[in-house]
Amino acid sequence: MAAGPGAHRGPSAVRLVWVYPDLLSTYGDRGNVLVLERRARLRGLAVESVVVNADQAVPQQADIYLMGGGEDLPQVLAARRLRADGGLKVAAGRGAVVFAVCAGYQLLGTEFGGVDGEPLPGLEVLNISSGRGERRAVGEIVADVDPVLGVPRLTGFENHQGVTRLGPGVKPLARVSAGTGNGDGTEGAYAARVLGTYLHGPALVRNPGLADLLLTWAVGVLPPLPEAAESWTRQLREQRLDAVASMSG
Ligand code: GLN
Repeated sequence: MAAGPGAHRGPSAVRLVWVYPDLLSTYGDRGNVLVLERRARLRGLAVESVVVNADQAVPQQADIYLMGGGEDLPQVLAARRLRADGGLKVAAGRGAVVFAVCAGYQLLGTEFGGVDGEPLPGLEVLNISSGRGERRAVGEIVADVDPVLGVPRLTGFENHQGVTRLGPGVKPLARVSAGTGNGDGTEGAYAARVLGTYLHGPALVRNPGLADLLLTWAVGVLPPLPEAAESWTRQLREQRLDAVASMSG
């Protein structure tokens, strides 16, 4: 059974749902699922992952929902299907963790830009609204996370035309030091246990601290992993952060 917010978690598995990879999965977003599975299992937690395509109902009782990025048309189709299905909104409303990237992030909001930039209704799970920017934001992004969250500096790759404004009740995930993010110097957003970001890369592969934040929201505080389990990730992070520093230096 799913643990409600703050409930004690027994031996049952952490349930992950990967939402609509047939429409929303660009730049290796599947890596986010793999990283959550691995980091949970290394702590001795059982994991059950379910892939839900756009012709299937989104289960309402899972612990963590993941959505990736997508091109404009698949994004429009995904938003339409998710609004009709209703499962993701119910899950978020009862306190499930939602992690959404780029197109997935935008469609969690009240409104986002369609194929021709026309405003379309989002899921209204997060109080953000997105439209079209002047130019596409493509390339590496680095951003410093809201200190309250205790997550190290983010490194990722972005490719989007959308710009996002945050409404009341929603906080920026991070402050951009290289790249574009939301378009106003901030990057991503979170409220309660719903978190969105423009970062691909995939985001959780490059930012295991973010993966651990999501797991902690779902199951409670977790022990750190042994140093040996982190060495590849550390090297990847150093390499990407150095690459950005040398581009701007
Ligand atoms: N289609 C959206 C945009 O361009 C999202 C792109 C993405 O998910 N990479 O803003």
